[in-house]
Amino acid sequence: MRVAVIGAGIGGLTVAAGLGADGHEVVVYERRDEPGAVGAGLTLFGNAFGALDAIGLGDTVRRASSDAIARMRAGQRTPSGDWLVSMPSAMVPTLRSLHRAELHRALVDALPAGSLRLGQSAAVAAGGEPVVSVDGAEERFDLVIAADGLRSDARALLGLDRGVRYAGYTAWRGITGSGVDVHGEAGETWGRGRIFGIVPLPDERIYWFATESTAAGQHADDEREAMQERFGDWHSPILTCIDSTPTGAVLRHDIYDLARIPASFAKGRTVLLGDAAHGMTPNLGQGAGQAIEDAATLTLLLRNDEPDAALSRYDALRRRRTRAIWWQSRQMGRVAQASHPIGAGIRDALLRVTPPASMGRATQSIQRWTAPPS
Ligand SMILES: Cc1cc2nc3c(=O)[nH]c(=O)nc-3n(C[C@H](O)[C@H](O)[C@H](O)COP(=O)(O)OP(=O)(O)OC[C@H]3O[C@@H](n4cnc5c(N)ncnc54)[C@H](O)[C@@H]3O)c2cc1C
Repeated sequence: MRVAVIGAGIGGLTVAAGLGADGHEVVVYERRDEPGAVGAGLTLFGNAFGALDAIGLGDTVRRASSDAIARMRAGQRTPSGDWLVSMPSAMVPTLRSLHRAELHRALVDALPAGSLRLGQSAAVAAGGEPVVSVDGAEERFDLVIAADGLRSDARALLGLDRGVRYAGYTAWRGITGSGVDVHGEAGETWGRGRIFGIVPLPDERIYWFATESTAAGQHADDEREAMQERFGDWHSPILTCIDSTPTGAVLRHDIYDLARIPASFAKGRTVLLGDAAHGMTPNLGQGAGQAIEDAATLTLLLRNDEPDAALSRYDALRRRRTRAIWWQSRQMGRVAQASHPIGAGIRDALLRVTPPASMGRATQSIQRWTAPPS
């Protein structure tokens, strides 16, 4: 089959590598001139690795990542450093972390030679015909996969867009310039309307993220200084992580998710994948994991079914699972970002009395991926 993939993000690259390995002819259109990723880290749970293993990419991504975080004490802390809840590592034994750029590099290396077309902004056909146009020139395929991100033009062109929603908070991300001793402790620290997260990377540098409930569209001249001001009096080694991040290397993005999940992930021979289908808040750390699950599901379905039947099964399987995770992620964001002292106080009190095992059970079904029955 000839397959067009629009977007060389994690979702597009994974499905292109999977289908390419199965012998399909793939063309990946990426509007940027470089296939790289933002300078931040990423965590992937066992469900992502289960899906990657099913299409032969698991070991490639394992080699680029580290399981150090799964061996550390992790959970939620207060800004003074008291643990609200501490998850036994047995609950997330397959959690791994990596640099986004390394993941992109590994996936690009797994693509069939010559399949990536950089600097090409591609549009789908409104009726779902498998045709892609770039600067007015049309090319016909057997299948078009739109993996063009949260603000997907393809989703709008297909008439499947139900809008995006500002989640109410902004996020900063950074990677320290050198290793930082985190004393074997990782995870998130929850304050009032603010979160700080610590994730060790394979090379011992620290990927950190921070959030604040605030209006959208704001920027500081020096985002690192903005971090130092907000988190400078939080527990160690938060300030060390911020101070060790090169100036100018702190990223800031307002957080949006899809206002509603599309009524269908497929129209004709065009299908949505990744954030284009189910863009969610980062609170469960599942956006990329779900894009990878989409990619593996579609690849496996196309091994057994003819394309129309595969798309119909993909739509049913993926919409059900991702809608539930998209919703839970949004609810988790509301709880985690609680900024009123009473709301944050109740949240913390409940966390203190929640047995870690029941926290783990709540997320276990999310962290397990099941291959589609053949
Ligand atoms: C702060 C933050 C932290 C996160 N942390 C995690 C985490 O720890 N774990 C996790 O699993 N997820 C995490 N996520 C979510 C994750 O980053 C996304 O879900 C994932 O990157 C989506 O991948 P994608 O391929 O669907 O879309 P994208 O990464 O958005 O890729 C879309 C690509 O399509 C290209 N494109 C767009 N339009 C066109 C066009 N017309 N023609 C050609 N190319 C086009 C874009 O340039 C882009 O390269 C986080 C997100 C945020 C914001």
